[in-house]
Amino acid sequence: MPDRSFLNWPFFEERHRQLADQLDAWCAKNLPVDHHDVDAACRELVAKLGRDGWLKPTALDTDNPGPLDVRTLCITRETLARHDGLADFAFAMQGLGTGALSLFGTPEQQHWLDQTRAGKAISAFALSEPRSGSDVANMEMTATRDGDDYLLTGEKTWISNGGIADLYIVFARTGEAPGAKGISAFIVPAETEGLSIAERLETIAPHPLARLAFDNARVPASALIGKPGDGFRIAMSVLDVFRSTVGAAALGFARRALDESVSRAAKRELFGAPMADLQMVQGHIADMALDVDAAALLVYRAAWTKDMGAPRVTREAAMAKLFATDRAQEVIDTAVQLHGGDGVRKDHIVESLYREIRALRIYEGASDVQKVVIARQVMGAA
Ligand SMILES: Cc1cc2nc3c(=O)[nH]c(=O)nc-3n(C[C@H](O)[C@H](O)[C@H](O)COP(=O)(O)OP(=O)(O)OC[C@H]3O[C@@H](n4cnc5c(N)ncnc54)[C@H](O)[C@@H]3O)c2cc1C
Repeated sequence: MPDRSFLNWPFFEERHRQLADQLDAWCAKNLPVDHHDVDAACRELVAKLGRDGWLKPTALDTDNPGPLDVRTLCITRETLARHDGLADFAFAMQGLGTGALSLFGTPEQQHWLDQTRAGKAISAFALSEPRSGSDVANMEMTATRDGDDYLLTGEKTWISNGGIADLYIVFARTGEAPGAKGISAFIVPAETEGLSIAERLETIAPHPLARLAFDNARVPASALIGKPGDGFRIAMSVLDVFRSTVGAAALGFARRALDESVSRAAKRELFGAPMADLQMVQGHIADMALDVDAAALLVYRAAWTKDMGAPRVTREAAMAKLFATDRAQEVIDTAVQLHGGDGVRKDHIVESLYREIRALRIYEGASDVQKVVIARQVMGAA
């Protein structure tokens, strides 16, 4: 049974505790799904999560608008990740993909949100390019005004849900200024002429991912989110909300690894006694539990701070993401070690956690980038 004591921390309200319990019960019944065809699995997960109402917190409720509740996003990601990494991915992308619309969309543009919140449309966030990942302001893709339209030309890569998404939020250079100030954000439906899937990308933990090609893909000027030149600010605001949720997913993976290890140590006999009696094993378990609790404190501090109305949580979110993802990697590695040969068996739960966690230290700002962000915040505040 996973540790639930953190839900009594003052960061949470009763509704968060209820959510954690109800979602856990739902996961026990519905997860994991069959992953052999990741596209089909993701579609199924989005449809199921939407059908049963779990996608509602991912985007603005147009009938009852209010800020996204980051604690709800984090508890949901943590819980789903503990049960099935792909379910967490399916949930998270509905939020990241539509974040620009929730935060900056017009009421007409926000009609998409009713669909994504119901699991009837799949969304994607298309920022990275082959030559601009960490260095977002170096992006090359262009959006050129043509009468009442924009023409998008260039490439995006590493796009989660690429190939299965119904809508892409695409960032492109509109040239109001050099660098970060000359980027704008657009809604691009998947069927837009000139948009194609150039390559499907396979990774150590399979998820739908693609490189997208845009060849004079035409969208109306009404597809522009915010004003021309707002794109970088929009992307950073979206990441400010969702970055701590990456930490929450890592926390879910780490909690599962810890639970599996505790259970293994109790059941496995070594040298005539339960493995749990070995003090070195106890030392590992203690280190894992410490990392899990410390990560949870940082993740839920960031989420609570945002929910309490902080305009930006750059420092808190960077610390949460960096610590939770890096430490989860270590916790999971220890879990693999404690499982011996079983730990490296294909499709054993700790083997799949070992593959799942790795990309979280790279996307939405690599660990080194988070350190730069934290140092700037700390030194800037001194
Ligand atoms: C599984 C997965 C899913 C993804 N999903 C999406 C998505 O949905 N949408 C999207 O737009 N992008 C997505 N990405 C792209 C992701 O955001 C980029 O991979 C990431 O920003 C790193 O960019 P890069 O791969 O170009 O590496 P680079 O920018 O070349 O960086 C490589 C390494 O250099 C180091 N580094 C970089 N900058 C600094 C610095 N300032 N100081 C010190 N060291 C530094 C870091 O160690 C970094 O890992 C995804 C990536 C992966 C792997």
